[in-house]
Amino acid sequence: MGPDNSALPSTPPTALPSAPPTALPDPAARRDQALRRDQAVRAAVEQGLVGPDLPLAGLLDVAGIRASAAALRAAFDEVTAPGTPVLHAFAVKAAPLVPVLRLLAAAGVGAEVASPGELALARAAGTPPTHTVLDSPAKTPAELREALALGIAVNADNAQELARIDALVRSAPTRSPVGIRVNPQVGGGAIEALSTATATSKFGVPLRDEGAREWLVRAYLDRPWLTRLHTHSGSQGMPLELMAGGVAATYALAEEINARAGRRQIDTLDIGGGLPVNFASDEETPTYADYARLLRREVPGLFDGRYGLVTEFGRSLLAKHGTLLARVEYVKSAGGRGIALTHAGVQVATRTVYVPESWPLRIAAYDAKGRPKSGPAVRQDIAGPACFAGDLLARDRELPPLEQGDYVAVLDTGAYCFAHHYSYNSLVRPGIHGFVADPQEAGGTVRFGVVREPQSVAEVVAEAGGGVRDALREL
Ligand SMILES: *Cc1c(COP(=O)(O)O)cnc(C)c1O
Repeated sequence: MGPDNSALPSTPPTALPSAPPTALPDPAARRDQALRRDQAVRAAVEQGLVGPDLPLAGLLDVAGIRASAAALRAAFDEVTAPGTPVLHAFAVKAAPLVPVLRLLAAAGVGAEVASPGELALARAAGTPPTHTVLDSPAKTPAELREALALGIAVNADNAQELARIDALVRSAPTRSPVGIRVNPQVGGGAIEALSTATATSKFGVPLRDEGAREWLVRAYLDRPWLTRLHTHSGSQGMPLELMAGGVAATYALAEEINARAGRRQIDTLDIGGGLPVNFASDEETPTYADYARLLRREVPGLFDGRYGLVTEFGRSLLAKHGTLLARVEYVKSAGGRGIALTHAGVQVATRTVYVPESWPLRIAAYDAKGRPKSGPAVRQDIAGPACFAGDLLARDRELPPLEQGDYVAVLDTGAYCFAHHYSYNSLVRPGIHGFVADPQEAGGTVRFGVVREPQSVAEVVAEAGGGVRDALREL
């Protein structure tokens, strides 16, 4: 027996408050976001979340995350026919933190997972199986078996994986909707490492390769339980037009398969994520509404109600709502260059340090009490604590002169950044704190909730084999 293809719920499990979504990039919302950030930095210093003995912390703006989730839902509500089932599944890899997934679940956003760990996080957050999608390119038999037993959606990456799923579906019934990921081969964006629709990308079935299209159509005709088609053309650096081109190619394939099947076999298209984030200012561009409207223009049939939709946005939901706050331990000068030695470096902004030209980050300066610093900008390097010369978050950056005991805030770091610790130099994982602040209230209170406790040095030792110290000597 195959899957029963239970439809996606068209209403999220928890209703959103009726307040209109904060319409970022509206200037007032932008200003509020910056004010909330200033309030949170000040409060984090005053409440001791950072200080001489705890020189680094991550902060997450709860109101900002809620606003982005609401904006995403509103954007697709605007372009879809009434009653169209739409699941927005957050790409867990962008912020693998259970309280974040729980917050998103309450805002009607599900989870896209790509490993046993990510699936476990989504389950710990209480994300229902009907709101969970598994997409990894290298799923083990055990992972597939678990996914099909839970009834979460599964997208097969390739022919060998499909053969495994065939065997599993034959041996046990499943409620999982199952699809195949295609690589529309529309080309790459500005960042090669994040371009998944190049001719030779490792992801999905390469749609334009010889014989691939016919193989795909056959795969569906032979398997009446295959009801979805998936694509994700890339992440940061992809032009929206190219992403839309990938969706259009996937839609065209679904239409062909359904025509050949003589029925609506494919009932849901999963269009992936990848909306780029503006790291240059507080402005949120492009918006979800921009992308949804572009898709409606380019692929109108996608929105006429014949297909359910799944999206998998990650970075665009979280990036702008995270701030990394680091104390300036020392300042110095070398060869005429001012250098601030801070506690934020490669361990929490790995991509920026290793590939600075692709991942520039804004930095804001605060004084020792957490108040925004002003004054004539001078060029300085913002260095991290790790022991290699390239550990710099910014080179020759114009900022108010930093002094010992000040703080630097690294902005837009809520996705793929401080939640993704890299254990270089055995530096501890910083604590992560969610906050709620009221920008209308000058000097108002800021409430914090611990999302992840700061790691202790004892935990670092334990993770590094501290409990088995004679393991090699006794061999
Ligand atoms: C990484 C990834 C996403 C999310 O991409 P973002 O750029 O963070 O929106 C979505 N789907 C798949 C399959 C991915 O690998």
